[in-house]
Amino acid sequence: MTQYQETTKENWIRTIIYVAVSVTVIIIGAIFLLPAYWYIWLILVVGSLFLLVIWHAKNFAYRCLKCGHEFEISTFTDFISPHGQSKSGGWKYLKCPKCHERSRATVIKKIKK
Ligand SMILES: [Zn+2]
Repeated sequence: MTQYQETTKENWIRTIIYVAVSVTVIIIGAIFLLPAYWYIWLILVVGSLFLLVIWHAKNFAYRCLKCGHEFEISTFTDFISPHGQSKSGGWKYLKCPKCHERSRATVIKKIKK
């Protein structure tokens, strides 16, 4: 069974680094590829975003604000759902599979056993 824990500062630093690397690749790619090979650049953009979302969906889960149920979401849901950052941590606007209420679910870290 998968266990969860609160996200730590290290998780956030890692997320920020991955996002920063993706953005850098996209920007550098735009400079070199955009004039002649815009379609390769497009693949690069879609590819890096896709990898980032897959990584996020695999490593993080969510806790419902209304009932406390902890659940995982698919890569697709992760990609399309609105998310943000509050003082208490990251959140994602999701529908809970248990109580079927929509709330700003708290981001939690999956612990692999
Ligand atoms: Zn719930």
